[in-house]
Amino acid sequence: MTKAYDQFINLQKKLKEVSDLAGFSESFYNIIKEPERIIEANIPVKMDDGTTKTFRAFRSAHSSALGPSKGGVRFDESVTYEEVKVLSTLMSLKVALLGLPLGGGKGGIVVDPKKLSERELEGLSRGFVRAINNYIGPRIDVPAPDVNTNAKIMGYFTDEYIALNGGRHDIATFTGKSVDMGGSLGRAEATGFGVYLTIKKYYEKIGKSLEGATFALQGFGNVGSFAAKYLVEDGAKLIALNSKDKNAESGSSAVFDANGLDPETLEKARETTGSALNIDAKKISNEEFFALDCDILIPAAMENVIDETNAENVKARLVVEAANGPVTEAGEAILNEKNISLIPDILANSGGVLVSHYEWIQNITGSYWDEEEVRNKQEKDMTKAIEEVFETADKYKVNYRKAAFILSLSRIEKALKLRGRI
Ligand code: NAD
Repeated sequence: MTKAYDQFINLQKKLKEVSDLAGFSESFYNIIKEPERIIEANIPVKMDDGTTKTFRAFRSAHSSALGPSKGGVRFDESVTYEEVKVLSTLMSLKVALLGLPLGGGKGGIVVDPKKLSERELEGLSRGFVRAINNYIGPRIDVPAPDVNTNAKIMGYFTDEYIALNGGRHDIATFTGKSVDMGGSLGRAEATGFGVYLTIKKYYEKIGKSLEGATFALQGFGNVGSFAAKYLVEDGAKLIALNSKDKNAESGSSAVFDANGLDPETLEKARETTGSALNIDAKKISNEEFFALDCDILIPAAMENVIDETNAENVKARLVVEAANGPVTEAGEAILNEKNISLIPDILANSGGVLVSHYEWIQNITGSYWDEEEVRNKQEKDMTKAIEEVFETADKYKVNYRKAAFILSLSRIEKALKLRGRI
């Protein structure tokens, strides 16, 4: 069985465990254990050499209980049917946790976009929209960027959608668009800012100040770089960065400085040399990075990086899942045993989808907000979700992941009851 299949089975087990814990019915579990709808398509693309290639594509809409589905589309060779099932289910939980009138969606195409020309990439993007056209729209399902997709691809998606639908400018069908074609200000910073907010609120809860708190960060991309910026601005100290860039000096996977690394210096190194690691600081190994004695460990790069092989060595007091799924089931069990707190991805990195929702609102209403308005609204909406997770964890005496699941599922369950489905 594939890794994604195992992840789907594990997720179903967790949903069942939490459903039982919160007293939800078997009928409810039977609804949420599988996505409502999955489209599987074969997309033909005329290649530059005159041949036609077909690409496998998927779009999963997990739950419409609370509203239209929302979630990214990734272009990657690793995309599978099971993967979109897992990710769309987690998206349902993420949006419900924020109290948004949305469900979870996810899509993907099995392709290595680096192997396509610009023209082929555009053809594939337009073909994807043609394949799912009847199942997307501002009130049905709203795709967005994800791994290897971006505002440019959203531009192709939007243009094709308008053309296919009699010229209707339903640009709220997609989010993550360029600001010049209806995207929201503040989206680039949103996920990193949300990671910072979750940590700040956690520190307030435990009665500590962020001043002087040390953190180790994996990944200096969109999420990691902004999280580092806001944390350092608030007095925290970035003592190590682990990253994987093809331009990193040979042999280095992480840099360490007990006096603190400066995010601006890292940013400059990334811009000028292609890797934030190319700075004057002590080089350490991956193993040393995960075993650092620090207050906060923030994996902000990729999935499954803390598992049974390294969780035992983690010395941080708090692990914050800025990436999606960076801690495996086995890794989390070890962290729990060691009394290390963990803030789950569906809360920590929810700032991105929150501001995508703001983009949807701005497109629907035709009224656009400045950056300050976006930031203030994000702070208010995320603070509410963070505090609710802390309260639920205390109430049920469970960890933050289970608390977040209970909260999300209770909102989906309530909507299904009110709609007479259960
Ligand atoms: P990105 O591509 O901008 O940056 C990824 C960073 O991770 C880079 O610094 C890269 O060097 C590093 N990296 C990649 N592979 C690595 C490895 N094997 N070891 C160490 N470092 C590695 O991506 P991003 O947008 O910052 O997203 C990071 C994570 O956050 C992903 O899991 C993504 O799904 C999740 N996420 C992103 C957003 C968003 O708004 N961008 C929202 C929610 C969740």
